[in-house]
Amino acid sequence: MNDGSGFSVKDPLLTPRFAGHISFFRLPVTEDPAGVDIAVCGVPFDGGVGNRNGARLGPRQIRELSVNAVKPYHPISNSSPFQRCRFADLGDAPVNPIDLGHSLELIEGFYRRIHAAGALPLTAGGDHLVPLPILRVIARDRPVGLVHLDAHADTFDHFFDARFRYNHGTTFRRAAEEGLIDPKRTIQIGIRGPRFGPDDLGFSLRSGMRVVTIEEFFELGLARVIDEIARVAGDGPTYVSIDVDALDAVYVPGTGAPEIGGFGPREAIAMIRGLAGLELVGADVVEVSPPLDSGGGTARIAAVLMFELAEVMADTRLARRVPGR
Ligand code: MN
Ligand code: MN
Repeated sequence: MNDGSGFSVKDPLLTPRFAGHISFFRLPVTEDPAGVDIAVCGVPFDGGVGNRNGARLGPRQIRELSVNAVKPYHPISNSSPFQRCRFADLGDAPVNPIDLGHSLELIEGFYRRIHAAGALPLTAGGDHLVPLPILRVIARDRPVGLVHLDAHADTFDHFFDARFRYNHGTTFRRAAEEGLIDPKRTIQIGIRGPRFGPDDLGFSLRSGMRVVTIEEFFELGLARVIDEIARVAGDGPTYVSIDVDALDAVYVPGTGAPEIGGFGPREAIAMIRGLAGLELVGADVVEVSPPLDSGGGTARIAAVLMFELAEVMADTRLARRVPGR
């Protein structure tokens, strides 16, 4: 699995998958983003969670499950994204587990280095506040489109006290207010479950986001949802954020706010594959909480979804690679 560039994954037919050091997909580990096309990172932070936490332990468990759940070749392209592009495990962003504001600064600083080196970030959370500091880096110059899979819209103004505006349920409202995402190029898919009140989706709808509730998802069918993703995201730079609770709670018990009645892994994978052709500038999978994930099944799903994102991001990266790099 070595193309001579120094970027390679361990061949599972030479070193069994249960042996050796753990990194995302058995990628090489480096702290230096120079020359990396796609930087796979963790953000071990769950200070934005208002209910059941534990997602700070997500990156470590997703790394471990990714070693076992993922082999290097993709079944559709029958090639390896890790050979087409230079992937590396950049480790975890620094965080301050007792200060949310400081953590946001530290995470932003970590992604600034990755972005400056020209690498696209593929992130394992962490809670769903994690995309905010990432977007503050990669969308600083212009708003990006957003493909957001989730049971929840995450566009609340605040929880508990109006002075505290940053938590995992306010991320995409703050991102829209800060001009980081274009609401007209934002699609939220899988929204469902009991609500806090009558206006839970108010900001999403008023700002022009396309909200595909789970009821509409099943009414439209997968193929038309995939068309709708492409239509809404359009031609510009687009970020992908996947809250694992988008999937039915049967598949992802290991998350803070599981919701029943969702789509399954098969549909999630099909939607990720349907992103081919979009200009992807980064992606994340968040809200895996290992203490709630007995058996590791939720982290396993997250690892495979990250592999599917790696496959589709590799093509974006190749299409946009600066000649000579
Ligand atoms: Mn959610
Ligand atoms: Mn969420």
